Amino acid sequence: LLSVRDLIVEFPTRRGTLRALDHVSFDIAKGEVLGMVGESGAGKSLTGAAIIGLLEPPGRIAGGEIRLRGERIDNLAPEKMRRIRGRRIGMVFQDPLTSLNPLYTVAQQLIETIRTHMDVSEKEARARAVALLDRVGIPAAARRIDDYPHHFSGGMRQRVVIALALAAEPELVIADEPTTALDVSVQAQIIDVLKEICAERGASVMLITHDMGVIAETADRVAVLYAGRVAEIGPVRDVIQAAEHPYTAGLMGAIP
Ligand code: ATP
Ligand code: MG
Repeated sequence: LLSVRDLIVEFPTRRGTLRALDHVSFDIAKGEVLGMVGESGAGKSLTGAAIIGLLEPPGRIAGGEIRLRGERIDNLAPEKMRRIRGRRIGMVFQDPLTSLNPLYTVAQQLIETIRTHMDVSEKEARARAVALLDRVGIPAAARRIDDYPHHFSGGMRQRVVIALALAAEPELVIADEPTTALDVSVQAQIIDVLKEICAERGASVMLITHDMGVIAETADRVAVLYAGRVAEIGPVRDVIQAAEHPYTAGLMGAIP
């Protein structure tokens, strides 16, 4: 479904150029959950941002290819990329307030997203929004749907963000530390709901996290990023049992 080949991301600096991603390559198959781990600064978020075309200048893609179903999506015109974002690739960031607009109710935001990308009536969009909120575990969605984001707890907000990311039925969801800010007991539930819905729909997930335990529970394969490179990639079992890179070997000690 997604293919990233020799991706290079660079930042200009006073002393020259900083290469933050250096020939990063990996694939995500249809329906697959690919975990991505790595220490802080390894390049996980940059990889996600490059795929969805949200790399912040002066960062730029300096080489390589990103393909979605074979079609190049790196360096697309902003207008085209906007259509892919949301419609074909959904996003969940660490802070739910990055994705939610405080000035609009949850219903308004979901309906707007659905109607931007899909040809459905207001009434149908609202019905889908209610169903989706139910599905992500927001009780009495029909009532809460007209609340503003600040009326929800952190965990509930992140469930709303997951509903938003899934609203236009994307083929791929990129989740960048979607539960890091949340209570440990809530984390697993939220990851589970995201995984479950994507599995039902045959959608793929790229799950960025620091938490090897979450990967072990959730992912089919894992990519380990180290200093802007893919240090290791493979089925989670294999990587856990036969870590080749010293950093990965260290990570494995962290699995509960
Ligand atoms: P974390 O786990 O802390 O979220 P990460 O793996 O997501 O880390 P990235 O945010 O992808 O890390 O950053 C990777 C590297 O890219 C950083 O170490 C830094 O060198 C470089 N980088 C990122 N943003 C910028 C920027 N705006 N200007 C210069 N360099 C940057
Ligand atoms: Mg990050």
